[in-house]
Amino acid sequence: MYEIVTLLSINSDWLITANLLLSTLLLMWVLRYRTLYRVFRKEAEQHSNSIDELNEGFYRASIDGKLTNANTALVNMIGFETREELLEEIDSAADAWYIVPGRRKEFARLLRTNGYVSDFVSEAKNLKTGEHIWISENAHLVNVASNGKSTHYEGSMLDITDAVQRNKLEDRIEKLSSNLPGGLFQLQYDNKGNFTVPYVSQSFRDLLRLENQVISNPNLFLKQIHPEHLEKYLQSLNKSLTRMTGWMVEFKIKKMDGVERWIGLIATPEKLADGSIIFHGHVNDITERKEVESKIAYYAYYDPLTRLPNRTFFMHHLERAIPSATRSGAYGAILFLDIDNFKLLNDSHGHAKGDLLLKEVANRLTATVRVNDTVSRFGGDEFVILLDDVGKNEIDAGKNASIVAEKIISEFGRGFDIGSDQHNCSPSIGVVTFGGQKDDADALILNADIAMYEAKKLGKNNFVLFDTDKSEIVTNLNQLQSRLRTAIKQEELCVYFQPQIDHCGRIYGAEALVRWQHPDLGLLMPNDFIPLAEQSGLICDLNNFVLNKSLEKLAEWREQGCDEDFRLAVNISPQQLRQASFIGKLTKFTSQNEVPPTLLTLEVTEHSMARDFETTAMRMQEIRQLGIKISLDDFGTGYSSLSQLNELHFDEVKIDGSFIAHLEESKSSQSLVEAIIAMAKALDLDIVAEHVNTNFQERFLLARGCLRFQGYCYSKPLPEDEFRKLIISREKIQISA
Ligand code: C2E
Ligand code: MG
Ligand code: MG
Repeated sequence: MYEIVTLLSINSDWLITANLLLSTLLLMWVLRYRTLYRVFRKEAEQHSNSIDELNEGFYRASIDGKLTNANTALVNMIGFETREELLEEIDSAADAWYIVPGRRKEFARLLRTNGYVSDFVSEAKNLKTGEHIWISENAHLVNVASNGKSTHYEGSMLDITDAVQRNKLEDRIEKLSSNLPGGLFQLQYDNKGNFTVPYVSQSFRDLLRLENQVISNPNLFLKQIHPEHLEKYLQSLNKSLTRMTGWMVEFKIKKMDGVERWIGLIATPEKLADGSIIFHGHVNDITERKEVESKIAYYAYYDPLTRLPNRTFFMHHLERAIPSATRSGAYGAILFLDIDNFKLLNDSHGHAKGDLLLKEVANRLTATVRVNDTVSRFGGDEFVILLDDVGKNEIDAGKNASIVAEKIISEFGRGFDIGSDQHNCSPSIGVVTFGGQKDDADALILNADIAMYEAKKLGKNNFVLFDTDKSEIVTNLNQLQSRLRTAIKQEELCVYFQPQIDHCGRIYGAEALVRWQHPDLGLLMPNDFIPLAEQSGLICDLNNFVLNKSLEKLAEWREQGCDEDFRLAVNISPQQLRQASFIGKLTKFTSQNEVPPTLLTLEVTEHSMARDFETTAMRMQEIRQLGIKISLDDFGTGYSSLSQLNELHFDEVKIDGSFIAHLEESKSSQSLVEAIIAMAKALDLDIVAEHVNTNFQERFLLARGCLRFQGYCYSKPLPEDEFRKLIISREKIQISA
């Protein structure tokens, strides 16, 4: 004990020193801890503030699922005002939070089993607004206790409503576009001049056989565009970007599999808030349409039988040749040729032989004239030749053109091989020159035609040079014209009616066709005097006469019990379409005859549209507003592009009789008629086939969906009294199918 006391007393200094040392250490530790604590608190506050500022919701919850903390984003997402309110009420509200029952339990099960939950997507409800939202949750258990047991879990929650809706929309668009022809796309152009593709439908990929690299780098697509169409494509895109107008372009591409196709693209640009421009667009494979168009364009300018240019081609060519002859001082000439007695060959040896002769004549004519000259077939047995540069003055031109006409006559003298037979025939040729003054193409053709008739009168196998000084011809023309004027007044004109038949054999309507009962020349057909009436300006009076007369007759038939919906088709001329007073006439004629305008169809030929397209389109619109239908007559002989047809809104197309006539033996006529029917159907137009003469033709047309017919096979055009009996009896006509 003593020793211990001694020891303590000896070491008391040490004790004091140690005590002091410990106190200092303790103080330093407290100070250090305070500093650390402050830093830690500051960091924690900053951390909590920045978590609060995030758009993503963060939370902490006890193991049994009770929420113990949450950031502002989460409070808002669930639909509470404050964090306190959320922590207090969430327990009772949590089940209402998920839309699908059991979703909360599923979350807890995954967390328990795996220790974490990732990308847990659910539909939930904003508890304040009731609006449905989509969320994606991630969470993990936190192990803090020394025994490794989890004390709580932490998680995050992201509002993915926009993305889900976009996905759903895309899904819907995919489904819709898979049923549509073509595909959908979006193309975005940013401020830096880069293009990206935010969206393409599966059908778009399939259509263009696109690979992913093209989608991620749209510039690669340019390599697929046909080099000749690339500039057009880029120009249209550029124009649309600068003017913010629709982007529309048709171009050819080479697909990844090497196949070439025509593509039609239509897109609308939209300016986004960030200044970039996005196109919403549609592409379609238009290869078939393009093929039909080019076929139609070919047949619009060429005669399918002889493959020579047709009347339309020739007239376009002549319209250009006249001013160029006037400018250069080199005269041109037109030879109007008609084969003498061609009808006899047709009637005695059949149409096939007739066709062979026409082909042979075409070849012979082409071989006889120079390469720069143009040989065309106007129709039937009429050929018209344009001779280029035949002299420097009218006299020389007349002489040289006459030499060519004589050469042709002597070439005909060699005869023609048609099949196994040798056929001898001669031509009658009318010659006219042009170049000295301002000539008009229609007038030149008429003069050449008149000269050709003069040659026929001289005993055929001859030619006549039209001489403007030859007063006789001019007088004849004037006489006929003034006769026609009287004929209209004295009602020498009469109207014949040709039945129009539907696929059940019912006569559903009639086409009115004018005839001239000439006191000396007998019954004249329209082709003998309609061109004359058009030349002299009498055509409007003539057509108005026919229109009114036919409506008068229709009114009588209706009184006598013809079908209520019986229709009438009347031919009108281009001049009428240009007259503003025509609409008034139509209203007057239909109302004074008490015929509903809806029963009337006006037939116009493609040639009517060639000039003054805008006035024609406007007048047609006015006519349709009256309820009157408009039919495109003789379709296929002129130049009507599909787009023009579309713009003019026809109700009906009449396939030209010349194509129907050659259906049996000519594959090209068959494919042309098929193409016309397909095109008319695509444009939702009624289709009438004219000049139907045989069962084969009828069956061919029926099988392709043409359900209306007109032709000698059913009935020739009939005088009014005969036609009246036919329709009042309501007899049906036998149809072959
Ligand atoms: P279109 O309007 O194409 O009329 C059909 C023409 O084909 C009629 O000739 C008709 O008789 C004829 N046709 C009908 N079925 C057949 C057939 O099976 N085979 C053949 N080869 N021909 C058939 P049409 O009466 O000689 O009239 C010729 C053209 O004169 C008409 O062609 C039409 O463009 C014009 N036309 C007729 N009447 C009028 C009219 O009142 N005003 C005007 N502006 N033109 C008229
Ligand atoms: Mg017609
Ligand atoms: Mg016709």
